[in-house]
Amino acid sequence: METYDVVVVGSGTSGQTAAFHLNEKGLNVAVIEKADRPGGICALAGCQPKKWFYEATETIARGRHLKGKGIVSVSEGDWAQVLEQKQQFTSKIPGGTIKNFKKAGIDFVSGEASFLDDKTLSVNGKRIQAKFFILAVGAKPMQLPLEGKEHVITSDDFLDLGALPPSICFIGGGFISFEFAHFAARLGPVKKRVVILEVADRPLGTFDAEMVELLVEASQAEGIEVMCGVEIKAIKKHDKGFLIHTAQGGSLEADLVVNGAGRVPDLGTLSLNTAKIEYSKRGIIVDETLRTSNRRIFAIGDCVETIQLARVADKEAHVAAENILAELDSGRKSTMNYAAVPAILFTYPQLGMVGQTEDSLKQRGQTYHKSFAKNLSWPTYKRVGLKHAAYKILTDTNNLILGAHILSDQASGLINTIKQAMLNETTVEKLYQQTIVSPYPTRESDLSYMLKPLLSD
Ligand SMILES: Cc1cc2nc3c(=O)[nH]c(=O)nc-3n(C[C@H](O)[C@H](O)[C@H](O)COP(=O)(O)OP(=O)(O)OC[C@H]3O[C@@H](n4cnc5c(N)ncnc54)[C@H](O)[C@@H]3O)c2cc1C
Repeated sequence: METYDVVVVGSGTSGQTAAFHLNEKGLNVAVIEKADRPGGICALAGCQPKKWFYEATETIARGRHLKGKGIVSVSEGDWAQVLEQKQQFTSKIPGGTIKNFKKAGIDFVSGEASFLDDKTLSVNGKRIQAKFFILAVGAKPMQLPLEGKEHVITSDDFLDLGALPPSICFIGGGFISFEFAHFAARLGPVKKRVVILEVADRPLGTFDAEMVELLVEASQAEGIEVMCGVEIKAIKKHDKGFLIHTAQGGSLEADLVVNGAGRVPDLGTLSLNTAKIEYSKRGIIVDETLRTSNRRIFAIGDCVETIQLARVADKEAHVAAENILAELDSGRKSTMNYAAVPAILFTYPQLGMVGQTEDSLKQRGQTYHKSFAKNLSWPTYKRVGLKHAAYKILTDTNNLILGAHILSDQASGLINTIKQAMLNETTVEKLYQQTIVSPYPTRESDLSYMLKPLLSD
């Protein structure tokens, strides 16, 4: 039987980050991976691959906005070419992952891990023991409770399609549906229909409602239909495509149906009860040190009840690794802080957020100040012909930022500046003074216009 200091289950970004952190500190580490292609969702079918489609989308979208304003012909997209570029990147991930483990002296074990007891894992009938375990098993697409669910493809499948058909229906108004719908609207055939169906009365539930309305307007301006309050009853094969039946009695035809309904923790085969690890439908339950209900077992990344984002997963990996080192008297106890986690929707324009939404502040009954504007006509946006830029910044009575929401072609950079201010507890006055002297004229220098209405007299 093999015995290690730490065994990490899962070779995604969080599993790798934890494994290398502990390996660099001299611990004896193994990583177990059940997929044929190690490397995890971010590198293989998530954050990285989708950005190939985003970059092409951004160029086309910008060209369309500028047509007649100095641009004569708009760039034409070629899905197949983007796919090829993306595949050149992803094809190297599995081999590179194994090579890097080997180079560092981390043992890589291929197979599905399952607890035999709280000190032992079984992998392909082999027993593996460790002083500590880190579960980094990620998430998988949510199963749709529908007749005809077998006709629906996943986000992984979508990013591998050889070509886009003329009509696509995305189920669920979450981030996957919105980003992919924006790719399809720019990279799909000229004559097309792109529809997002959402069962709730609004899409993108974790984002600020007012800002989401503006993103929906921007999406509709690109021909994307967003339908809310639509419950899907069944999907049936029909001619060359599918017929989607709704509980409201309507129906919709599509050549392709994509599951964009979100991802749920992949806990199926770990046998968590055997190791006395508590979990809920939202994932493995951990404290702020990423420790599970079993002291010797930590859990990180998309499989825990926290936020499903790559850099959150990586930070959780470092925190868990530090806490294991602290137990072994070679590190300092570390905790996770989720107060200022930025999130970006890679639509065009992007929607970025950090901190609280206005609805969450209202629900808490918290007093707040708001600076908000839409259809921004600052020269930065006029120059690129972007009509749907908007922002909202929310502050408390001590002039600290509670939340920020930005709809812009460059929302990611702007949200990161505000995240830094939140983490450093910089007041609005101070941030305003700091942003006046920015590279000019840029989206960053626009920040002073956003902050000015929040300054106290
Ligand atoms: C389409 C898409 C786009 C995304 N875009 C972004 C983005 O722009 N920005 C962002 O921050 N995040 C994005 N994300 C989310 C991001 O990819 C995840 O938060 C991150 O990759 C999670 O990493 P992880 O290590 O927790 O899990 P994963 O990368 O899923 O790794 C888990 C691994 O564990 C393995 N495993 C599971 N069970 C077992 C077992 N029993 N035994 C052995 N191995 C097992 C799995 O096979 C898998 O390889 C996106 C996700 C998707 C799907």
